[in-house]
Amino acid sequence: MAIEYLLATEEQKELANLAGEIARNELEPRLEELENANGGLGEYPWDIHMKFVEAGFYTMNMPEAWGGLELDNVTRGLILEEISKVDCAFAFSLRGLGDKFNLIIDSHIPEEDKKKWIDRMLNEGIGGAFGLTEPGAGSDSKAIRTTAVKDGDEWVINGTKCFITNGSIADFYGIFAWTDKTKKASEGITCFLVEKERGVKVSKQENKMGFHLSPTTELVLEDVRVPEDHIVGELGKGFSTAMGALDTARPFNSVFAVGAAQRAVDIARKYANERETFGKKIIEHQAVAFQLADLQMKVDAARAMTYYALQAGDAGVPLKRLASEAKAFPTELCQQVAVDALQILGGYGYMKEYPLEKIMRDMRLFTIFGGTNEIQRIVISRFMKDKVR
Ligand SMILES: Cc1cc2nc3c(=O)[nH]c(=O)nc-3n(C[C@H](O)[C@H](O)[C@H](O)COP(=O)(O)OP(=O)(O)OC[C@H]3O[C@@H](n4cnc5c(N)ncnc54)[C@H](O)[C@@H]3O)c2cc1C
Repeated sequence: MAIEYLLATEEQKELANLAGEIARNELEPRLEELENANGGLGEYPWDIHMKFVEAGFYTMNMPEAWGGLELDNVTRGLILEEISKVDCAFAFSLRGLGDKFNLIIDSHIPEEDKKKWIDRMLNEGIGGAFGLTEPGAGSDSKAIRTTAVKDGDEWVINGTKCFITNGSIADFYGIFAWTDKTKKASEGITCFLVEKERGVKVSKQENKMGFHLSPTTELVLEDVRVPEDHIVGELGKGFSTAMGALDTARPFNSVFAVGAAQRAVDIARKYANERETFGKKIIEHQAVAFQLADLQMKVDAARAMTYYALQAGDAGVPLKRLASEAKAFPTELCQQVAVDALQILGGYGYMKEYPLEKIMRDMRLFTIFGGTNEIQRIVISRFMKDKVR
């Protein structure tokens, strides 16, 4: 399969092609089985996860000093886009688990403990999850109710987190909790590193319309105790930690969407070159050919904006409104692509036998999580006010 990003270097193409090859060889033949596993809830394939870990496509931005490859955004984007062409949910979970090494490094646990966790990530492929959302607090994340109360040298955490990606397969979590309710969120919420073995209960696996290879769970913390050194970053600064992590992740949401959308176009293009109606291939009907042209144009536009943001991040340019723009616009373009590509397959597009109905279901998520696209518009529109520029 081609790497469509024209500015990719030979080295980047080689890495992305290798990741794509693993996904096509290992993941693609098992998609149906994994999609329907666990009574239809789906399954994240740990054996295939380990193949990506062994090939180096995990913790890809971990600093070299900690044993990682320290790959830049664009290179990671290209690798994850190729995996997303096979399954965007798997690619999303793979990145999510691996990128949480920051929770370990930014905590205050002893260096030898940090090293032990990082070594386990590199060798055993274990990973983390991000626990911000709660039943009553999604977009309005300041409305979280989880608390952490100081008791001697420890913090005692109580609360329920929902919709947590990888909650059931992670070994540690970043849990956001109020440490001082008398203060505003930017000073009263703290992020804690909480290992699963401290008593975090996975109380529910969500039954989703798509994204079945990425487990989404509810987590319950009842009197879970963590030592003082498990604070991630600074006491009271958890809200900015959360917003920073979401900002960094935003262009990557679009990477997964672009990969899945390109797959949708490739399937529709192949079909249009084979299917005949009224004595000719349907691509010979100009209406279909133009539809295909529009699809590819939209994916290319989505890709251009996504990689522009990734490249800006690599150059150290503050993304400001671009992080939100590069999440909202490409994901919406890609959603349209998935819907319209299915149309080209006619009735067959609607059948589970063809992958487009799954891509459409998976794709529906991208405008919702990581901050809904309405919330992205709130962020972008702040920059439209004279004083903020
Ligand atoms: C599959 C999946 C995986 C997820 N993974 C994680 C994870 O790993 N960790 C985590 O912490 N969270 C995770 N989330 C949570 C996700 O970030 C939230 O679902 C999302 O931020 C929206 O919150 P909500 O669902 O509570 O919707 P709400 O905030 O209740 O919003 C409902 C609707 O109202 C709109 N809305 C809300 N406020 C405004 C406003 N001020 N102006 C205009 N429109 C508004 C929203 O855009 C939306 O359309 C995940 C969610 C899903 C579905």
